[in-house]
Amino acid sequence: MTPEEFRRHGHEMVDWIATYLETIEARRVQPALAPGAIRASLPSSPPTRPEPFETVFRDFETLVLPGVTHWQHPGFFAFFPANSSYPSILGELLAAGLGINGMSWITSPAATELETHVLDWMAELLDLPDAFRSDSPNGGGVIQATASEATLTSILAARWRATEGTVNRVGGDATSRLVAYATTETHSSIEKGLRIAGIGSEQIRWIATDANFAMDPEALAAAVADDRAAGLVPFWVCASIGTTSSTAFDPVRAIGDVARSCGMWLHVDGAMSGIATLAPEFRWMLDGMELADSYCTNPHKWMGVNFDCDLFWTADRTALLGALSILPEYLRSKAAEAGAVIDYRDWGIPLGRRFRALKLWFVLRCTGTDAIRAMLRDHVALAAELAGWVAADSRFELVAPHPVSLVCVRVVGPDELTDRLVEAANATGTVLFTRTVLKGRSALRFSIGARATERRHVEAAWRLLETLVGEILPMK
Ligand code: PLP
Repeated sequence: MTPEEFRRHGHEMVDWIATYLETIEARRVQPALAPGAIRASLPSSPPTRPEPFETVFRDFETLVLPGVTHWQHPGFFAFFPANSSYPSILGELLAAGLGINGMSWITSPAATELETHVLDWMAELLDLPDAFRSDSPNGGGVIQATASEATLTSILAARWRATEGTVNRVGGDATSRLVAYATTETHSSIEKGLRIAGIGSEQIRWIATDANFAMDPEALAAAVADDRAAGLVPFWVCASIGTTSSTAFDPVRAIGDVARSCGMWLHVDGAMSGIATLAPEFRWMLDGMELADSYCTNPHKWMGVNFDCDLFWTADRTALLGALSILPEYLRSKAAEAGAVIDYRDWGIPLGRRFRALKLWFVLRCTGTDAIRAMLRDHVALAAELAGWVAADSRFELVAPHPVSLVCVRVVGPDELTDRLVEAANATGTVLFTRTVLKGRSALRFSIGARATERRHVEAAWRLLETLVGEILPMK
């Protein structure tokens, strides 16, 4: 592709994206396709000669796009959202255009320094403790791809601290007495991270939750006491602020007190709901955060910064670097040796790093926090209104509190009714919901968070559920 062709196709592509997003509502949220249908339509062998861009793009539109789930669709109420926005898309394009690898300061000073800067901005905007700021004695923030990576990073730092670094020398033997704690409501990435870190299922304690699916801190304290009495070492606990199934909020302060009493690392997972603390009225969820050793939240979920962008802060940089810093000759630099710069390759799993700070910076500057706050508030207000409609309809019940933007609903009666409702609603293509299980019973998660979602979309989705339940119920 020549520079001229790149210019032409680039302009066309930006036009295409704008039209796609403007008209997305007309599409099915999720394609109705049999597994393998997309692959079956693609040539089995790769091309051996360059093809015209027009041909490739035509195939994208006719062969690939029909298999896309439209996460930016206003009827997307599934999982948690993954929002993009125009400034973010342009920041991403620019990062691709620069094509840098910001593994360390010397490999692109601006990538590191902008990242440090926007992480400090975000710490301020989210009202996080000063101990997470880059100018604190032992803290700082970094962009990770996902909350899963952030969690794994925190586990590795905690493992290093609990073993006083021995793990780097003797490996698995050093970790055999370590024990981690979370609830069964915590995201699956927590168990996955522990597994990757060599913490087996017998070293994980699933702590009981209360009626609202939040960790019972007394049960945590009892489990920790039992483990210590047995000569084991509590080393890591995860508190979720906004669980995936129901947005339950673990009591961070009480969990932090238990953690502090035995030197255990407290990681707080605010992947989705944590972004809400951009608005002061949601800062109740930060109570006790000064007791946390690490925290993560995802602008790629609810802030209009397209995937991937997870923000991870720690108040114990020493442990993080102890766990992850390795310095081969080819990565040495005078700036790093003088301790004058941050090398983010030591702050996460991969060596290579994309210039993700650009898209976050673009969003903060071009969208502005007032507009983001307004969107969050709208979504939360819509969730409250929806919950009112559910509560007023005797065919449905609310199965969990809805402190933020997720409403969990079930059809009164056997689970099969709720399961059929989720399937029937999704089959219309106008909405997409996710099913979950709460207290052993099926529930429909109505997660409001796509940027394009307005009141009329939530209302139409609710009317659809009302209609469908009317069709399902007589058949029971
Ligand atoms: N934690 C919570 C509470 C989540 O809801 C999710 C995903 O929805 C994750 C962690 C994992 O997020 P990621 O896809 O960024 O790894």
